[in-house]
Amino acid sequence: MFYGFDVGGTKIEFGAFNESLERLATERVPTPGDDYAKLVETLAGLVEKYDAQFGVEGLIGFGLPGMEDAEDNTILTVNVPAAKGKPLRADLEARIGRSVKIENDANCFALSEAWDDELKDEESVMGLILGTGFGGGIIHEGKVFSGRNHVAGEVGHTRLPIDAWFHLGENAPLLGCGCGKKGCLDSYLSGRGFELIYAHYFGEKKKAIDIITAYNEGEEKAVEHVERFMELLAICFANIFTAYDPHVVTLGGGLSNFELIYEEMPKRIPKYLMPVAKCPKIIKAKHGDSGGVRGAAFLNIR
Ligand SMILES: [Zn+2]
Repeated sequence: MFYGFDVGGTKIEFGAFNESLERLATERVPTPGDDYAKLVETLAGLVEKYDAQFGVEGLIGFGLPGMEDAEDNTILTVNVPAAKGKPLRADLEARIGRSVKIENDANCFALSEAWDDELKDEESVMGLILGTGFGGGIIHEGKVFSGRNHVAGEVGHTRLPIDAWFHLGENAPLLGCGCGKKGCLDSYLSGRGFELIYAHYFGEKKKAIDIITAYNEGEEKAVEHVERFMELLAICFANIFTAYDPHVVTLGGGLSNFELIYEEMPKRIPKYLMPVAKCPKIIKAKHGDSGGVRGAAFLNIR
């Protein structure tokens, strides 16, 4: 049995999966504000409850918006105050009496997709999230590749390529990022970025969904914006794909529902890749909102 926890800022989602990767149980509980002891007890309590229900000792994986510090294994996170700066994995292992795996939630999203029936035989799968932010994860042979500092796949905090700067032109917006740098892809390719770029060029704030509706109706500014954004996305994706060369790329997050992306990327990306490279297959994520908890559970498959 595989237990997965998706620990978010406001809620914790638990899922139990059998060996066939079918979900047998789901539970959601509130994240206990900034009370660390309560967080550990809440998580341990769910493990004990489902161990008793299934009569097994489940294998445990956690996903959260953050990562472990590579030196002291404390949690680096902004969105889960209770876990911030705490050695959560070590304390859980001591409390529950078995080993626990922890990963960044974007890596869990990618892992969940990589274990989808259709993709599980692919050598490498890259998951990219075009949501409130832009981020991703890399799965190689069914396992998360997270690097020395657990930041592998953090493509949202790589900067705009020079081609993007040329494409955006003299009036290019230099957008700040939550990480403290300027020009991070997170600020341009996310749903938020989609809106910020529109506001920059047209001087009016509009929601992404409204821009896309206007685009579908052929409204001039929306058409100009979507053209600009699609080329920007292709340039940035091509740089990422040149570095990682994934076999398949799966897109999640709100903006991934914009079907035009799947038509446009294969046409626009090749000219920005290394000449010997081919564009990978780019598909929409299958498991959406449940990706975090699925991926957390599947940390123990291999
Ligand atoms: Zn950044």
